[in-house]
Amino acid sequence: MHKHSLKQLSALLQSKQVSATELAQHYLARIQSSTLNAFNHVDPAFTLQQAASADQRIAKGDAGILTGIPIAHKDIFVTRHLRSTAGSRMLENYISPFDATVVEHFNAAGMVTLGKLNCDEFAMGSSNENSYFGAVKNPWDTSAIPGGSSGGSAAAIAARLTPAATATDTGGSIRQPAAFCGVTGIKPTYGSVSRYGMIAFASSLDQGGPIAQTAEDCGLLLNAMIGFDPKDSTCVERATEDYNRDLSKNLTGLRIGVPREFFSEGLAKDVEQAVRAALAEYEKLGATLVDISLPKTELSIPVYYVIAPAEASSNLSRFDGVRYGHRAADYKDLTEMYKKTRAEGFGDEVKRRILVGSYVLSHGYYDAYYLQAQKIRRLIAQDFQAAFQQCDVIMGPVAPTVAWDLGDKSDNPVANYLADIFTLSTSLAGLPGMSIPCGFGQGEKNSKRPVGLQLIGNYFTEAKLLNIAHQYQLATDWHLKSPE
Ligand code: GLN
Repeated sequence: MHKHSLKQLSALLQSKQVSATELAQHYLARIQSSTLNAFNHVDPAFTLQQAASADQRIAKGDAGILTGIPIAHKDIFVTRHLRSTAGSRMLENYISPFDATVVEHFNAAGMVTLGKLNCDEFAMGSSNENSYFGAVKNPWDTSAIPGGSSGGSAAAIAARLTPAATATDTGGSIRQPAAFCGVTGIKPTYGSVSRYGMIAFASSLDQGGPIAQTAEDCGLLLNAMIGFDPKDSTCVERATEDYNRDLSKNLTGLRIGVPREFFSEGLAKDVEQAVRAALAEYEKLGATLVDISLPKTELSIPVYYVIAPAEASSNLSRFDGVRYGHRAADYKDLTEMYKKTRAEGFGDEVKRRILVGSYVLSHGYYDAYYLQAQKIRRLIAQDFQAAFQQCDVIMGPVAPTVAWDLGDKSDNPVANYLADIFTLSTSLAGLPGMSIPCGFGQGEKNSKRPVGLQLIGNYFTEAKLLNIAHQYQLATDWHLKSPE
């Protein structure tokens, strides 16, 4: 049953061949026996209660396409019934008084929450090793990282512990773990998905999105996920669309921009081969490849690692031991309470970002670092607009290598940052980006590790990206492969 897509599960539910309760039990049992550490918490009683109401809706004929389908949420989305930790000791026992807008949308659609998914602390990381609750293992090879920060979401989809998952992407955290775990994920245009109740990392970059097995499934989830929310001041007010409306369009005449800078020295041979093979498949589907340049690709790393920590240092000031979560046990005055609380509550990477962020925003350094980064950010966005004069979509690798081994880069933050090179610029420009499985590499260990193809579209072209991804998935079967 767990091999089915959302569409297939929905058909089984509507025709009453399976009940929402049976489906929930099936996945709960799989989660129970999994050793990947993909989930931070589950509450079977709550899940089964939601499943029972979904069954009632189906019985009354009042069900939508997602009613009764299980979903799990990255532990960055706050939920009233399950703890919301952001992978941090700071929020270890935090229960939110409200549900994130995204969670509300999925609840309203009748989806059944299986639990909360592990992630890097406050979504800072590329390997999920920065979680206070421990690393997640890659289901394809348990000695490898699953990617991050949405490592739990991607690993859970790959291991078929849930058919649908939410995730967030600030600089690649949907696309990179999706690539490393061989599943499909999409980060929509900045401002599409409400950030209300999504624990903030870098507000001008953070964007929620789905991870699932197929592009079609991602489209079904986006249909429920995207919508104007007056509670998020950067949420864009647009007419509702069906993101799957163009799935069946053929790709004849599609111009695919292939950025030179994405196929540079640092790209591993095994990844390059899989990505080039995918591009060749697109040519068979009627597309033409156009050589393009995104000249500031390399600068996206310093720019992102100035802007994201700057925003993080501001966003994380709210965790002061007074309002949320952890508070140190003994202290002599207020200042010591703050210091001890934050020293105990945050992990190393979070502290590093708060330090860097405070530094680049401080008097005397603001112009040299933060302001300069903002200017280059604008130039990066302009490079994309120039590229979209020549092509309809941009394609390349998601990451320079396949997933690395657990522990390999855990004490080398810069090595982690460098591995984000192909995902950061899309985020800085606020563009939609997607990752779809396109083959396997060997890595250094000669094991089988998935490779992702990145698709980058212009603003609000999610339906087109899903169409382009779906046509590839009709012609290939990488997305159907599972580690079992
Ligand atoms: N790896 C990047 C970082 O560490 C991106 C993380 C994300 O997208 N949340 O900040």
